[in-house]
Amino acid sequence: MCAVEYWNHTTSAGTSRSRNWWFGYVLNPEGTDETGWNETIMRDAPTDITLKRAEGILEITWGDEALHRHSVRELRCECPCAGCVDERTGVRTLDVEAVPDNIGITNMQLVGRYAVKLAFSDGHDTGIYSWDRLYRMQSVR
Ligand SMILES: [Zn+2]
Repeated sequence: MCAVEYWNHTTSAGTSRSRNWWFGYVLNPEGTDETGWNETIMRDAPTDITLKRAEGILEITWGDEALHRHSVRELRCECPCAGCVDERTGVRTLDVEAVPDNIGITNMQLVGRYAVKLAFSDGHDTGIYSWDRLYRMQSVR
């Protein structure tokens, strides 16, 4: 069995591994332009995201710059959603002790062109991880 699984970026426009599809767009909350997109420059989308299930590691390749490795458990613990972090105080409400060591990622879905939504094997699927946030997260060995 192959432990390495590749995940291709997928949009309504089809599947592509080219960063150019995702580059530099963020959802415009005002919805003032025709497409609903605003050309605010954000961090480039990664060129590749690889889930290494056996290791519990999510590998993210950022253009030519760097390969970052994140523990899936850490990603779950860092979930930024309103169910895990108090929106007003910024205090984490998630009990990280309760997150199992062997937690996995069951699904990944692009959110606009600025983020990816991760679904975890504990059934939690509301965490949206912006490229910015992912890039800033510490890489593990
Ligand atoms: Zn969450």
